[in-house]
Amino acid sequence: MLEVEDLAVEFRTRDGVVRAVDGVSYHVDAGETLAILGESGSGKSVGAQAVMGLIDSPPGYVTRGSIRYRGRELLELDEGGMQRIRGRHVAMVFQDALSSLNPVFTVGDQIAEMYRVHEGASRAEARRRAVEMMDRVHIPAAERRYGDYPHQFSGGMRQRIMIAMALSLGPDVLIADEPTTALDVTVQAQIMDLLAELQRDTTMALVLITHDLGVVADVADRIAVMYAGRVVEQGAVSALYERPAHPYTLGLIESIPRMDDERDELVPIPGAPPSLMRIPPGCSFHPRCPMAQDVCAEDDPPLYAVQPGRESACHFWEEVLTSHG
Ligand code: SF4
Ligand code: MG
Repeated sequence: MLEVEDLAVEFRTRDGVVRAVDGVSYHVDAGETLAILGESGSGKSVGAQAVMGLIDSPPGYVTRGSIRYRGRELLELDEGGMQRIRGRHVAMVFQDALSSLNPVFTVGDQIAEMYRVHEGASRAEARRRAVEMMDRVHIPAAERRYGDYPHQFSGGMRQRIMIAMALSLGPDVLIADEPTTALDVTVQAQIMDLLAELQRDTTMALVLITHDLGVVADVADRIAVMYAGRVVEQGAVSALYERPAHPYTLGLIESIPRMDDERDELVPIPGAPPSLMRIPPGCSFHPRCPMAQDVCAEDDPPLYAVQPGRESACHFWEEVLTSHG
């Protein structure tokens, strides 16, 4: 459904070139959920913005690669062509519902507007369908709440409204960028359940962008782990979760709190991700990697095929695999 290949995005700033995304490839099939996991500054959101055609003016440049939707190259489309794709075929939900919704219009009217603008629906028809969408994302008393303003909803309910808007035109691909970050843990789980439910009922492909492996482990089919603008490991969730093949993934898993936790404390990965203006030579993770050896500071690891559908950008992926479980 969506295929990203060797995508590179840079920002040319006065202080230097920020290589936000540097050779990222992933794909997501109909009915599948792909999680793109990474710390802030890993390039995970920038990649999604490129898919939506939102990196199209200085200082941001897509310098390389391909983004295909149903086999069609999106990077070749002009703004008009992208507008026909955006929303109707590929839609996006952002982290911050409050700033994405217009405070001066009722939520119902904002959803209805989608049908009026994009499908030429009559006022009554647009309203009816907006209420239907609010129902689908489980907003209680949708009919009555149609006329309420964004500030009258809780954070979780506002995120449901954003999801309703994104799904209003029936996209084939939904990209959700940190859709639950601003919410408390219980509400996060409810929104994840909702996304999983909405996706189950359709053949929509879902791309979940997150920094929180704990949030996506239950809903994603596959995970692509990003570090310093690249994918460092990808594969099926269960495989990756049970037996990571990259020290960074292993570190992320060890830093997730768990119910059955017998460890006294969580083990966060020491250090911070590099500035995307000064990515370390060799393996970009080597300054933080507990398994680093001399070669790591010099040789940039390619994505090694670990198993079919499973890749790791670590010279020592076999050692990582056997270092646990
Ligand atoms: Fe660590 Fe070396 Fe593997 Fe990079 S290549 S993740 S530094 S062991
Ligand atoms: Mg982000």
